[in-house]
Amino acid sequence: MTKKAGSNPNPYSLDPEDWQNFRQNAHLMLDDMLEYLETLRLRPVWQPIPESERSLFRNPLPWLPEDIMSVHKTFMNHILPFGVGNSHPRFMGWIHGGGTPAGMLAEMLSAGLNANLGGRNQIPVAVEQEVIHWMLELFGFPDNASGIFVTGTSIANLIGLLVARTAAVGDKIHEKGVEGENLVAYASASAHTSILQAFDLAGLGTLSLRSIPVNKIHQIDIVALENAINDDKRKNLRPFFIAATAGTVDVGAIDDLSGLSDIARREKIWLHVDGALGALAILAPDLAPRLKGIEFADSLAFDFHKLGQVPYDAGVILVRDAVLHHQTFVSKAAYLHRETQGVAGGSPWPCDFGPDLSRGFRAFKAWFTFKVYGAKKIGEMISNTCALARYMQSRILSTPDLELLAPVSLNIVCFRYLCSNPDEVNAKIAIKIQESGIAVPSTTRIDGKLAIRAAITNHRTSSEDIDALLAAARSFGISISDPDSQRPLRP
Ligand SMILES: *Cc1c(COP(=O)(O)O)cnc(C)c1O
Repeated sequence: MTKKAGSNPNPYSLDPEDWQNFRQNAHLMLDDMLEYLETLRLRPVWQPIPESERSLFRNPLPWLPEDIMSVHKTFMNHILPFGVGNSHPRFMGWIHGGGTPAGMLAEMLSAGLNANLGGRNQIPVAVEQEVIHWMLELFGFPDNASGIFVTGTSIANLIGLLVARTAAVGDKIHEKGVEGENLVAYASASAHTSILQAFDLAGLGTLSLRSIPVNKIHQIDIVALENAINDDKRKNLRPFFIAATAGTVDVGAIDDLSGLSDIARREKIWLHVDGALGALAILAPDLAPRLKGIEFADSLAFDFHKLGQVPYDAGVILVRDAVLHHQTFVSKAAYLHRETQGVAGGSPWPCDFGPDLSRGFRAFKAWFTFKVYGAKKIGEMISNTCALARYMQSRILSTPDLELLAPVSLNIVCFRYLCSNPDEVNAKIAIKIQESGIAVPSTTRIDGKLAIRAAITNHRTSSEDIDALLAAARSFGISISDPDSQRPLRP
């Protein structure tokens, strides 16, 4: 093999010796993945994992090389078929995005570039900031607000809380922490567990987070919130943080963001919005009005990897007050010295706005997705996803042996099969459907009742997929609650 100009003279380099051969293999792999995505629908959504498959992944560290196509074959035969199935149109178990073919290519391109987005003078940082500015504009935040990509909303919620903590305590937070500050905060009983965890991680303690009851449509009860704030003030505690939810995980409820922002402004409390699930619904003209008030948030956390369909993982935190955001994370470490010119220029850097120093180019797959599909189409897709949830609701309401357990707000439908002993039977139904490969629903509890939950998030899901899930729920319901019935199952 004669080496091409530009090929690596270092024999220890990990680049291929034979690029031509590598290129052919790469094309085969790409074809395999495109074939997979094109024919997803023909596969079971999920399948139980035999012990023989698990045992393939308990080998010692490989010291010696294996042919790349042989490793790829292991991926195709033993990893790919055994995911949770969230790319599949009948995956409705949890709020997992479906990914897209364009997103897959974006991952390949950015992996090839291998950018480290901690900082320095590079266009990838400008791309991240471009996406952040799209989002600032979309959510009605001021242009001088700040934001960064993070793994997901769990971390984005934590960052929102940490900046709010700086706002409440000031710079002393860095050395003295929050001792003696008596900070207290509020979120609805339906808030995501990552909010509670953030209080633990931030050293504020979970007891400082008040759990406020929800109203009939699962929004935070505003009167109960005001009472709790007044109670705490009477006890000389300092209310400093409200975590609103735009799209709860149980039923997809969106808190009254305008009402909450009024209270937050009046009481001088930081308003954080956990929009992991619902914030991007602002792209859908029919859903956007429901998010009114989001523009008043002090911080907003959301995910591109859920309704946005950007491949995992991609979350964002936006903060209205960029100075406080910077003040919370900027490091004084000397080796992060900034220049005004050259590669070490471009300050402030993304690493000044979060806990990560090395950061991947997550922004690229979001940027690529929005460029390739356009925000309008993404909005229409989200609108359709929620319309499918309403279709499912109407099917349930018109089917006598099914009961709707919560009104559909966004994309989540909670229902059960009516029978004696419904909790036990419906839990079994959900597992039977999962194991059949027909669809993947999950379960939750609504007002103490066990519900089968369909979280319709995937852009590939159609009304036939909804019908298939409901048909499976009824036919398993009949066979489980009446084992003598010989009704055949039609997958
Ligand atoms: C998914 C979700 C989270 C957590 O987000 P991750 O991206 O999984 O870290 C937080 N809040 C809500 C409402 C969610 O739906």
